Amino acid sequence: MNLTVGSHSIYLSDGNKIPLIGLGTYSDPYKTPKGTAYESVKCAINFGYRHFDGALVYFNEHEIGQAICEKIADGTVKREEIFYCGKLWNTFHPPELVRPALEKTLKTLQFDYVDLYIIELPLAFKPGDTFYPRDENGKYIYHKADLCATWEALEACKDAGLTKSIGVSNFNRRQLEMILNKPGLKHKPVSNQVECHPYFTQPKLLEYCRQNNIVIVGYSPLGTSRDASWVNLKCPPLLEDPLLVSIGKKHGKSAAQVVLRFNVQRGVVVIPKSFNQKRIKEDFEIFDFSLTEDEMKAIEGLNKNIRFVELLMVRGARWPGGAVGWTGSCSSVGLRFESRLGCLAMDWRPVLGVSPPPPALHPVLPGRLRFPVTPYGTSGFESVCVCVCVCVCVCDLGLPWLTSGQPCTCRSFFS
Ligand code: NAP
Repeated sequence: MNLTVGSHSIYLSDGNKIPLIGLGTYSDPYKTPKGTAYESVKCAINFGYRHFDGALVYFNEHEIGQAICEKIADGTVKREEIFYCGKLWNTFHPPELVRPALEKTLKTLQFDYVDLYIIELPLAFKPGDTFYPRDENGKYIYHKADLCATWEALEACKDAGLTKSIGVSNFNRRQLEMILNKPGLKHKPVSNQVECHPYFTQPKLLEYCRQNNIVIVGYSPLGTSRDASWVNLKCPPLLEDPLLVSIGKKHGKSAAQVVLRFNVQRGVVVIPKSFNQKRIKEDFEIFDFSLTEDEMKAIEGLNKNIRFVELLMVRGARWPGGAVGWTGSCSSVGLRFESRLGCLAMDWRPVLGVSPPPPALHPVLPGRLRFPVTPYGTSGFESVCVCVCVCVCVCDLGLPWLTSGQPCTCRSFFS
């Protein structure tokens, strides 16, 4: 297959097409200045990207939608040239919540449809607007999910024209089989988005998916941002691997371009994230070289079967009190303010010097406190908060001394 900048899409089993490279858009919302996703998406479109991987839980779909809509309005692209993948979050698995969740994404994006809508994880959290619900012991509150019922609700969204294609993410073979063997299956999952790169090549899942005409979309294809709050840092930095660097040198390419080309060349879609103009461009420049068979084999040989993304929430709440995934509002120096996202990505280590902090550092307050939480100032919801700890978080106060992207020390309440 001759892949070029202008022609690098492959067919999905439902007849739609997916570009082999897309821009990943997850970036720690508390460390990422407002407008970064917007600027990055516009710049990516200028460089030739047509595929964008997003999610409600990334809390930046409004910026991505705005960027795409503006590039459509100024005539750079047509909507049908854009491929947007959205994700159903864990709290919206009950069938009756699926369409409203997708409609929320569509409204935020200002789109009539997404190109692909996928179940982000095969596990469900307690339904509701608290994205990371936890009990009083800080354990995630799971919900008995019927994946097949959730899937049927996705099928209905496709039939209603709200999404062109439907798929899954983080599904293993057994979970895929549950869907594929479902009596009365109307639409097969067209794709499975999973971690995939030379240190985690997924040979078995890849083979199973190939047999079943399911495209693998490889997330964290560059080995992640190595954010210690959710990445397994025992795994060495992928892009420093001597073999990848030396293969890159032979081709006049970077290790990043080599790992992206590696996956693309074996039919795995890649969604590298970059919010840096130079690297956005670099990551897309993978269609002017190819890897030899020997190089492909040598890169496959790097597989360590190690995940960078540990998906801690799947293994149960290992971090007391909600170090990650807290949904609540913050209170800083006596001010109450709306946190932009709740506490999806709070970082308290600079203050406490340990991670995670021992439970004694966040004693349960007497009584329960209620704080309104209004992500992005749109549809608000409330969170019942029971704990308090001193932490560092990045707030979105709109105050000069606490602007988005600036760390501030504050007392933060988490549910
Ligand atoms: P990634 O794409 O493997 O790596 C992103 C990191 O690499 C960022 O720190 C980025 O920094 C840096 N980078 C980008 N281009 C580079 C280059 N050419 N050279 C050196 N460094 C470079 O990691 P990821 O964000 O974990 O995964 C990508 C996307 O997959 C996400 O954004 C998200 O859309 C999706 N994802 C999905 C799931 C899921 O459960 N379905 C899980 C994880 C991720 P700069 O931004 O500064 O360039």
